[in-house]
Amino acid sequence: MNKYFLAKEKLPRLFELIMADSCLVAPRQISGHRYLFAPVLQAEEVALDYTNSHLPPKNYLFPQTQAMFLFQQGEGELRISPAGAASRTVLWGIRPCDLQAINALDPVFFGDYPDPLYRQKRENTLLVGQACDRPAAQCFCSTFGYGPDSSAGADIMLYPCTGGFLIAAFSPRGEEALASWQPLLLPVRPEQEQEVGQTLAVASQAVKKLDLNGVKEWLDKNFQSPYWTELARRCLGCGICTYSCPTCHCFDIFDYSRKQEEGVRYRGWDSCMFADFTLMAGGHNPRPDRAARLRNRFMHKLKYHLDRYNLAGCTGCGRCVRLCPVNIDIREIISDLKEVATRE
Ligand code: SF4
Ligand code: SF4
Repeated sequence: MNKYFLAKEKLPRLFELIMADSCLVAPRQISGHRYLFAPVLQAEEVALDYTNSHLPPKNYLFPQTQAMFLFQQGEGELRISPAGAASRTVLWGIRPCDLQAINALDPVFFGDYPDPLYRQKRENTLLVGQACDRPAAQCFCSTFGYGPDSSAGADIMLYPCTGGFLIAAFSPRGEEALASWQPLLLPVRPEQEQEVGQTLAVASQAVKKLDLNGVKEWLDKNFQSPYWTELARRCLGCGICTYSCPTCHCFDIFDYSRKQEEGVRYRGWDSCMFADFTLMAGGHNPRPDRAARLRNRFMHKLKYHLDRYNLAGCTGCGRCVRLCPVNIDIREIISDLKEVATRE
């Protein structure tokens, strides 16, 4: 794998090149220390140096609200037409936890029933990762076997260094893009490699690594546990944890119709933390209380996703830790479950 140096002063030209035939989506400063992924109109809008974004870039592959298809009732027949095509997109500056989240979403949407809407966006999106040189206090990605320097899932990776980035391709699509950006790249000097190595070693040390040994095994055997009832006393059922999570992927489907004979079918994010998420038409609810819903969320993160896809459903991004209004902290839950598992 060849690495190059991309100087900061070349970035405006590179962004112009990208924007000539693609939509460039990158972290942008919204306020203070808050950054969000958003379409870029001018090169200077791109935040080059940021702590993880307030929300993940998941909605550029799996939008919060998405038209699935249009329907029209004709003479004795129902006509269905596609809602629109995905545009070419470059998703720039994705931190390793959010790349890992895309790795966790792929088997869900490319599984036994491949999702054409996700596939369209995924196939039209170039993923440019950015190694994490400034992890936040809530980050714990190392817990799940990767870290601030991980490139898994990226087409291209950026490694911050003085005056710019080292840049390397990790997929054929990434190599193709890098080849077209070649006139803007320079050879890497040994001291730049050294600097990047040192920076990422310090970042890796700063990230909290939790011990997961025994946690899944305990969850395998303890579906019924008073632990969840106790924890649920604090939960407000607001759903912020799921909406801010880069791996949560539940959705609801609804039809919108202004005229009786035509309309659009949409899907929109849903949350397993909501009471009506599992409510059935006959009135039965298999997760009737907050404890059952909270248990489902953590079972999904630490057991179900692993059972089904051999990948954790959490990437340690720390967003739910930061945003939960009552400080329900998945890191504490892992430690609690670890302690219970060790005691038993
Ligand atoms: S469960 Fe929390 S820490 Fe884990 S990926 Fe989701 S938001 Fe991030
Ligand atoms: S963010 Fe906290 S309070 Fe809100 S649903 Fe999630 S765990 Fe419950």
